[in-house]
Amino acid sequence: MYSRILRFAPSPNGHLHLGHAYSALLNYDMARERGGRLLLRIEDIDVPRCRPEFEEAIYEDLRWLGISWQEPVRRQSEHFADYAAAIGKLEAQGLLYPSFESRAEIAAMVADLDRHGGWPRDPDGVPIYPCRARRLSAAERRRRRDAGEPFALRLAMDAAMARAGPLTWAETGAGPQGQSGTITAAPQRWGDVVLARKDMPTSYHLAAVVDDALQGVTDVVRGVDLFWSTSVHRLLQALLGLPEPTYHHHKLILDEEGRKLSKSTQATGLRELRAKGATPRDIRRMVGLGR
Ligand code: GLU
Repeated sequence: MYSRILRFAPSPNGHLHLGHAYSALLNYDMARERGGRLLLRIEDIDVPRCRPEFEEAIYEDLRWLGISWQEPVRRQSEHFADYAAAIGKLEAQGLLYPSFESRAEIAAMVADLDRHGGWPRDPDGVPIYPCRARRLSAAERRRRRDAGEPFALRLAMDAAMARAGPLTWAETGAGPQGQSGTITAAPQRWGDVVLARKDMPTSYHLAAVVDDALQGVTDVVRGVDLFWSTSVHRLLQALLGLPEPTYHHHKLILDEEGRKLSKSTQATGLRELRAKGATPRDIRRMVGLGR
């Protein structure tokens, strides 16, 4: 019986770059050091943006790096029913509400609010939702849903936090300001987050939390850009009665100008580096995991 379970969870919407290589290699190394196993999860809930050839390329690139994982691979697009069940549990607790506005309508609301002083942004720099749809009556919600209007399901953050009580997580890596140890979760910084949409019946947050629990993940090892997302993940775990993994957020590999790598920048793509003659050992060295 393995005691620790780790996972690498890429999205097949482009080719892997050095940042993914670092995350995958670190997961692989930590699983080995901790006597655990590594799982692979394909995060393809954004079905139109994900492509089978990118998924194939992920397997090929990871094998080339010398990484092995325990089968079966979990492909999120095959498990929408699991996410719907979690949505149902949150709805039964009265914690979700539909919001019918388009992105453009929300942007216009925010522009208006910004004129009266800076409207707050979430940790990713996106304006938090102004919560207008919370004021719709139950009858109005029903009428618009029945009429087939598209909507997003949002988490009523204050009610959710009141139900869950104060939350923390155990951080063995480091946050953006070097935080480690016991971290106080601050899900309120995200406002009323979207948990499902008509065209994407789950969200990254919900699917990641449900899958980490279903796959028995004990150690979440991922980039520091997801550090504050952990606040939302802890909240969802508490509301859904799911176990709490430990978290290890790692540094990001940056380009020469200090920017986060993107899937479209060829210079740091694993395929491009391999074509230029780089070996898996070179990749390890490039990301600071050389031995
Ligand atoms: N799919 C996410 C990404 O590619 C990783 C999510 C996670 O590790 O929780 O950035």
